[in-house]
Amino acid sequence: MMEALSPGLYIVAGPIGNLSDLTPRAADILCRADVVAVEDSRVSAKLLRHAGAERPMVPYHDHSDAHVRQRLVERMASEAVALLSDAGTPLISDPGYKLVRDARAAGRAITTLPGPCAAIAALTLSGLPTDRFLFMGFLPAKSKARADALGEVAELRATLVFYESGPRLAASLTDMALSLGDREAVVTREISKTYEEVKAGLLTELAGAYGDAPPKGEIVVIVAPPGEAPAASQQDADALLADALERLPVGKAASEVAKATGLDRRSLYARALEIKGG
Ligand code: SAM
Repeated sequence: MMEALSPGLYIVAGPIGNLSDLTPRAADILCRADVVAVEDSRVSAKLLRHAGAERPMVPYHDHSDAHVRQRLVERMASEAVALLSDAGTPLISDPGYKLVRDARAAGRAITTLPGPCAAIAALTLSGLPTDRFLFMGFLPAKSKARADALGEVAELRATLVFYESGPRLAASLTDMALSLGDREAVVTREISKTYEEVKAGLLTELAGAYGDAPPKGEIVVIVAPPGEAPAASQQDADALLADALERLPVGKAASEVAKATGLDRRSLYARALEIKGG
C-alpha cells in the first residue's frame, strides 16, 4: 500500500517526446495522486501507463467552466490533485495558471515537480546566448498581429524563444527577418525524439530552407539578440586614430582602431594618412 500524498496541487512536468525523460519523482506523484487533471486523456493515458499509474483523470483547461476549476480547488483541500500537460511543463503555453492562481488564493498547498520544457531544451541546443532570453510562446497566426508582436521586442537585447508549427514556420521566419532584421537563428525540431533536428542560419536562409517543404513535428525557433552596438561614427574613429597615432606608426594605428571598432582597416589606414598629413 503506497503512502498517501498530502492534499494539495502537484504541478507535474512530463516528457516532451521521450517517455524516459519523466522524472522518478514525477512518476511517484502520478502513482499516488487521487486524481490527475489533464488536457487530453488519450495523450495522458499513455504516460500514466508508462509510469504504472492507474489513476482517474479529469479534463482541465484554463478556459474550462469556472465551476470545473472551483471543484478541483475544493478537492485539493482533502485530496492530492496532479496537473499534467500533453507535453512538458504545465502552464508553459499550456493550461494551469488560473488553477494555480485560484489554489493559492484558497490557501491550498502547491508543489511543483520540475522537468522537461521545450523552450529550455531548445535554448540549450541553440548555441545562442542564454544569459538573457525572452519566451515569446506562439506568435499570432495573422501576419499583421505577428509583425506587431515582433515590433514590440525588436530592440530588446535578449535571445528570443518562439514555439511554432511546421505549416507556419517559413512565414514566421520571414516576418521575423522583416521585423527584427536578418539575425542568426536556430530551428529545433522534435527534441528528444527519433527525428530530432537542429538547423542554424540567418532568418532569411532558414525561411528559404523551409519555404518549399514545411517540416513535420514540433518546433522551437531561437533568435539571436540584435547585433552589437552600432558601428563607431567617423568622429569616434578620428578621435581613436588621433590618439593611436600619438603612439604608433600609421599601419599599426589603423589596425588597432579596426580591431576596436570593427571598421574597415584599409579605410582607416587612408584616413590615418590624411590626419597625419594634415
Ligand atoms: N508545455 C510545453 C513545454 O513545456 O515545452 C509546451 C506546450 S505547447 C502547447 C507545444 C509546443 O511546444 C509545440 O508546438 C512546440 O512548439 C513545442 N514543443 C513541444 N515538444 C517539443 C519537442 N519535442 N521539440 C520541439 N518543440 C517542442
